[in-house]
Amino acid sequence: MTEPVIANSQKGTLFVVATPIGNLEDISARAIRVLNEVSLIAAEDTRHSARLMQHFGIATPLAACHEHNERDQGGRFISRLQAGEDVALISDAGTPLISDPGYHLVRQARAAGYAVVPVPGACALIAALSAAGLPSDRFIFEGFLPAKAVGRRARLEQVKEEPRTLIFYEAPHRILECLEDMRSVFGDERPALLAREITKTFETLQGMPLVDLHSWVASDSNQQRGECVVVVAGWQAPESDAAVSSEALRVLDLLLKDMPLKRAAALAAEITGVRKNLLYQVALERQGQA
Ligand code: SAM
Repeated sequence: MTEPVIANSQKGTLFVVATPIGNLEDISARAIRVLNEVSLIAAEDTRHSARLMQHFGIATPLAACHEHNERDQGGRFISRLQAGEDVALISDAGTPLISDPGYHLVRQARAAGYAVVPVPGACALIAALSAAGLPSDRFIFEGFLPAKAVGRRARLEQVKEEPRTLIFYEAPHRILECLEDMRSVFGDERPALLAREITKTFETLQGMPLVDLHSWVASDSNQQRGECVVVVAGWQAPESDAAVSSEALRVLDLLLKDMPLKRAAALAAEITGVRKNLLYQVALERQGQA
């Protein structure tokens, strides 16, 4: 079913259009139609997108909308919407706003009362997750980690005990140090997957524990090239922790601050009714002595 480009209004619409992340066949028929029908395409890099437009025979004019001008130049696009024209927003690859420019323009358009319509398509994080074989019912996207080691490790520490599947974007020249830091923060055995060059000629999806993934990438410089997504399994509470309610854990943690481990476990058992031995075991784990 096709819908009119102008959505029942005199005002223009801003279409947020996903483009391929490699394989040009991944553009949708709707994306091509919308890009043909709008008056203007706001593009992250007009030269880059000109090649895509040429490939699909799209003659719509392009105007730059990148992270450096987006905030100040947004008005340019808004005034086109005001004039009743439709505008499409695209980035160099994949879905705009996902680690790409567009956030400020979308906010401005919505704040000014214009319809903002997504035209969905390729997105590297979703493509990687869809084929990773790691839990996909709940996940978090962390985007790019900080480039410097100190910042990167601090960020990893923040999500160390995150139970949902974690997804990261990473630059190829940092993939090795990134995996090294993930090993040291998340532990060698945490399951993970590297999705490289998705939809392109050298597409590789390799899933294994972090220790093996790190060695595999270290031993093959080809794995340190191209674009990549890292998917990491979420944290799993040790079995004994999982058997204890969060309230019992809260009581135990409070008592552990003020008294020796054995006494804290005994008192927590009295307060919560949980077995003393189990709480003793959990207390050892929580203090890293198990
Ligand atoms: N907006 C894009 C999206 O929807 O996925 C992401 C843009 S972000 C600037 C670029 C990063 O996305 C790359 O550094 C890489 O981490 C990931 N990426 C993009 N294309 C990819 C591909 N074909 N294979 C693997 N990762 C890709």
